[in-house]
Amino acid sequence: MKHSFFEYRGMWLKGNVHSHTTVSDGVCEPARQIRDYRDRGYDFLAVTDHNIMDSFQQELEGICLIPGWERDITYSKTKCVHLVGLSGRPAGEQKAFSMERPDPSEVTVQQLTDSMRADGQFVVLAHPVFSRMEAEEISGLTGYQAIEVFNMGCERICHAGRADVYWDMLLREGRRVLGIACDDTHGKTQKSDRFGGWISVNAREKSGPAIMEAVGDGNFYSTMGPEIYDWGIEDGAIYVCCSPVKEIHFVTYPPRGAAHYAGENMMTGDRYELKGAEAYVRVECVDAFGNTAWTNPAFAEALGGEGTDRG
Ligand SMILES: [Zn+2]
Ligand SMILES: [Zn+2]
Repeated sequence: MKHSFFEYRGMWLKGNVHSHTTVSDGVCEPARQIRDYRDRGYDFLAVTDHNIMDSFQQELEGICLIPGWERDITYSKTKCVHLVGLSGRPAGEQKAFSMERPDPSEVTVQQLTDSMRADGQFVVLAHPVFSRMEAEEISGLTGYQAIEVFNMGCERICHAGRADVYWDMLLREGRRVLGIACDDTHGKTQKSDRFGGWISVNAREKSGPAIMEAVGDGNFYSTMGPEIYDWGIEDGAIYVCCSPVKEIHFVTYPPRGAAHYAGENMMTGDRYELKGAEAYVRVECVDAFGNTAWTNPAFAEALGGEGTDRG
């Protein structure tokens, strides 16, 4: 019995859900940013300017715009908490508005998260390493549905773009948090924070609501380049099929999972025999340049095991 963890709803769509323009602190005009992403083959883009929801509403043929914003609480020159909120409302139904940067003496991060969720937004904890968040702050905050496992902009600024260690910390605690790769485009470093991290979503159609429905269901993978064609469970093992890569890793807990290296060759798939106690499994595929693709986690009930043995 083979069961895919992807739900094939119609089409794979590629998009970046974190970007800035001249409306806030990006260097690219909104119209040019949207056109550049479309011309690069992106199916959707969220322009998430700071504290401005849906800053740019003009549609452009060929690319779907997801209304969004980034709320930022600032504590010091380097310490902050940033939350990306994405709206699943149909184009035109999300009203554009802007708000003051939240003042930490007036609102807590939890209250801010809760207010975004109450508005129906999909909330992503942005770049926790860049934000100088401590583990207890990341784990103490609840309500966000995803964490940025890779943020291209923060990686390019100061090598603070990866958050897989924190993602696994949350998953070990039993939190059902998804992983998002994004650009966080600002364009301040000669375009180098563009086109480096995106999600590939399987949606029933190319529309904002359909894309956000699939994102909310975790029906996507994140990547810096490698493609994941399929992954799932077959005869008590996890399988993955991907574009040619050098490494495939099965990250699990409490069992230790497995790391596989191709050596001189390339791999386009791999298997991991389940031990039966996995609370979750996720897969990373790494190409010859170190570009990584991440599946979302599959949890115990999808793995057919107990997932409760913490031994
Ligand atoms: Zn940010
Ligand atoms: Zn940002």
